[in-house]
Amino acid sequence: MKRYELPQLPYAYDSLEPHISKEIMNVHHDKHHLAYVNGANAALEKLENGRKNSFQDTDIKAIERDLSFHYAGHSLHSIFWPNMKSGGGGNPGGAIADKINADFGSYDGFKVQFTGATTTVEGIGCGILAYDPLSDQLLTFGAEKHNLLLGPGTVPLLVCDVWEHAYYLQYKNDKTSYVNAWWNVVNWEDVAKRFDKSKQ
Ligand code: MN
Repeated sequence: MKRYELPQLPYAYDSLEPHISKEIMNVHHDKHHLAYVNGANAALEKLENGRKNSFQDTDIKAIERDLSFHYAGHSLHSIFWPNMKSGGGGNPGGAIADKINADFGSYDGFKVQFTGATTTVEGIGCGILAYDPLSDQLLTFGAEKHNLLLGPGTVPLLVCDVWEHAYYLQYKNDKTSYVNAWWNVVNWEDVAKRFDKSKQ
């Protein structure tokens, strides 16, 4: 059975300073993301074992909940890291910029909407810009945890993690300042690549 692996960060831990500190990146990637990878693999193993005796004495519902939570955490963090880069930010260009303008009216309109969706996530979760192949349009989600209030079938393009582990060591309870600073490290080339791929 296949297992998940923790991807390397595509840059050094201190690359996103001063917007996101080295300490946060260290703990976030090496501890939190790793925990999602291990959690997803543990769930797969439990399912594998469960199949050996037709899931007798196995709480399949609990395992599936674990798999959904940890898999979604792994998947979204795998997008979140390359979504950022040193010297990022600014405005997108090319097809993704045209699509943002077409679907949200303007880049500024999108930015206010995405920031709002992200900073108002109840409890823990992340803001997501996703492409919806059903309607050929971009959607924003304020996802709770990793796996609630997401649109099935949509393709996440841009993820902003607003779990407390993503900002608390540096921004304390000021989530809005963190999200405002995060815009300075958005890697629009990566978002553009994901958008091109999502349309294939
Ligand atoms: Mn996180």
